[in-house]
Amino acid sequence: MYLREFDPWKSRLCSCPFKYSINPYTGCDHRCLYCYASSYIKDFFRCRPKPILIETLKRQIKKIPAGSLISLCNTSDPYPSLEKQLKLTREYLKVFVSSGMRILIITKSSIVTRDIDLLKDSASAVTITITTLKHYKKLEPKAPIPSERFKAAEFLSKEGIPVGLRVDPIIPFLNYDEIEEILKTAKNCGVKHVTSSTFKPRWDSLKRMKKGFPEIMSKLISLYRDKVGNSWYLSVEIRKELMLRVRKICESLGLSFSCCREGFPELNTAASCDGSHLITR
Ligand code: SF4
Repeated sequence: MYLREFDPWKSRLCSCPFKYSINPYTGCDHRCLYCYASSYIKDFFRCRPKPILIETLKRQIKKIPAGSLISLCNTSDPYPSLEKQLKLTREYLKVFVSSGMRILIITKSSIVTRDIDLLKDSASAVTITITTLKHYKKLEPKAPIPSERFKAAEFLSKEGIPVGLRVDPIIPFLNYDEIEEILKTAKNCGVKHVTSSTFKPRWDSLKRMKKGFPEIMSKLISLYRDKVGNSWYLSVEIRKELMLRVRKICESLGLSFSCCREGFPELNTAASCDGSHLITR
């Protein structure tokens, strides 16, 4: 099955609604230093299309009830730079739209605006990830710059597509002091909901972060004492304080809030942690 039931390693901290997940590409060329997926997919930053036949996908989708939630993507970005030429994600979207599926897109790329015709034709929502306004050149070296992502959010929102923001990951000492500005700008772009999460390094993202931000990481590393699965976690107290701060800013701006894989569902003010509640049709 190319379409799989979303299951993040059976994480006890995942509070996602039932959904299917699919990745048109293996790997991603945005090259974020904090990327988690590179720890379990070989050669992750060499993005390549998955050898999936659209005809096979069309057969598979018939086995899934119309109205099911499809998430694109949970492992890689559905709009890497290759998508401009290959239009693979666009082909997938066509299949999902014609089958009456609910579609949740998670991306850092403004290429998503190209597919406005399909999004308008479907029950869909888009969540755009923005983590920093200052450090993006080093932290997310090949992803579209944050101002482009804000523009994409504004465009989609004006076109009537519900837009959420992912402030994920929050990295103490690095982007913590930027949260308010990011949220205010997002609100002005029409964003309705914020999903946030703290940085949960794995062996290779930790290495990249130490190389990219040695001073910050030397302060930060001692705060990572807990382990959940293969990820290091900040202490419950620090994570809760960070999530409460994001929630407070969201409340002051009239944005709904939820946290992702933190274990504090009681902090959520939205009906879903992933932004899928934004899909109203
Ligand atoms: S956009 Fe997502 S999948 Fe792509 S490199 Fe960055 S964190 Fe990894």
